[in-house]
Amino acid sequence: MPAPYRLAIFDLDGTLFRGEEPIPGAVEALGRSRGQGIQIRFLTNNSSQTRETYVAKLSSMGFEAREEEVYSTGIGTATYMREEGLVSAFVVGEDGLKETLTRERIAMTDNDPEAVIVGICKSFSYDLLNQAMQHIRAGARFIATNTDATYPMEGGRFIPGSGSLVAAVRTCTGQEPVVIGKPEPFLVEMILQDAGVQPSDALVVGDRMDTDIEAGRRAGCQTLLVLTGASPSAPQGQPYLQSVADLA
Ligand SMILES: [Mg+2]
Repeated sequence: MPAPYRLAIFDLDGTLFRGEEPIPGAVEALGRSRGQGIQIRFLTNNSSQTRETYVAKLSSMGFEAREEEVYSTGIGTATYMREEGLVSAFVVGEDGLKETLTRERIAMTDNDPEAVIVGICKSFSYDLLNQAMQHIRAGARFIATNTDATYPMEGGRFIPGSGSLVAAVRTCTGQEPVVIGKPEPFLVEMILQDAGVQPSDALVVGDRMDTDIEAGRRAGCQTLLVLTGASPSAPQGQPYLQSVADLA
């Protein structure tokens, strides 16, 4: 079991819910954590929704959640852009990503953008791929919200994740993207900074070793794997629970 912690950072898909179904007992577990005075943050590699939409989704399942507690790769991408002084982007992504970026004052354009941002995009096409390629060849920075190969759905089903689209852009441009999402520690570090918590006082909880747990490790946090999503078992030495519901 983890050492005492002040901040718990929960992955969403496969950790707190699957598709539209909450993991049984997860709502109560987070309630217990809050009752112990532990700060809660929600961290998803998904870029397709706004903070508002995630709060609505979490609330509809019974989770207590506030907008400032939700961190997505959309928010992370906007923060990265600001830190790098980039103000315009061509976006291969869902409306939620575009809305998140617009709210953070990033201009969407297909006229000489400073960056090409690639996230999950269910309307992905050869034409979009071609436009992304031409902008990157013309000098735009290549930013990937995340590189998850697949995306978990209800009933143990998976659909292609944004990593499969990033791979297409990487292949035709020969360029490596800057990656915002897990396993990069950028978003975890952003949460720690915003919360004013040291890495050793934070616990990162997730269902994927190669993204959630790796990001937590790289940021210097304690980590906890749950077996309700992508990982059927835990490697030797990795702290784990069958489900987030078992969190004391
Ligand atoms: Mg997950």
